[in-house]
Amino acid sequence: MDVTTKGIVLKSTDYKENDKQILLYTLDYGKVTVHAKGIRKNGAKLKFAADQFCFGQYELSQTADRFTLKTCDQLESFYSLREDILTYYAACTVAECLANYVAEGQAEPTVFVETLKVFSALSDGSEPLITALRYLLFFLQAQGLDLQMDSCCVCGESGKKRFLDLQRGGIVCDGCHLPESLPVSARTAAICKIVKTMPYDKLKNLNFTRDSLKDSLQLLYRYVSHCFSPLRSLNELLKM
Ligand SMILES: [Zn+2]
Repeated sequence: MDVTTKGIVLKSTDYKENDKQILLYTLDYGKVTVHAKGIRKNGAKLKFAADQFCFGQYELSQTADRFTLKTCDQLESFYSLREDILTYYAACTVAECLANYVAEGQAEPTVFVETLKVFSALSDGSEPLITALRYLLFFLQAQGLDLQMDSCCVCGESGKKRFLDLQRGGIVCDGCHLPESLPVSARTAAICKIVKTMPYDKLKNLNFTRDSLKDSLQLLYRYVSHCFSPLRSLNELLKM
């Protein structure tokens, strides 16, 4: 059976002599692995269809749960995401969340649309740290792991002092925190609250220092890595 869907390349790996396996995030089928035959041969017409971040209309042939690439109409190469190192690692942070943290074969149209938005924003020059932060806050919420900054996840108190409690999976108050809970500064909590609901095209109006954005991303790094597995691209972004 042939199927057509919009998709974004999360990553692709060499396979056999001339093939590639493309990890594609699609609108209609969620994350799927697509076998692209002969795509590494010299002059292969569909080479672009395996490029990281390529967004296109993909025509696939499906047998059981296996997909093979038939053809692709490129809608946007998002090549510019690979031209600046900070932008690149911000885009990789997004791709890595989808590649490693979501199950295959589950369509989540809102996540697909949000992913297109974040790639468009980054390719339009949106600041990488704040844009990655915006996406991570969305992604956690979409996965049912929303970080509520307003109230303690144990007792509901909305005290001034906040801590991230990894064991209990959320923000806790002064009274509920354990010795190993990580303090969350008022500034970090405020940044996360503001950024979370801000449309991507309005992020440029926010004026946070690089250090304060890094502190917020560091908090999310700890949380995301605890919930799933270490988010390597974000770690790279934080080192820069
Ligand atoms: Zn509490």
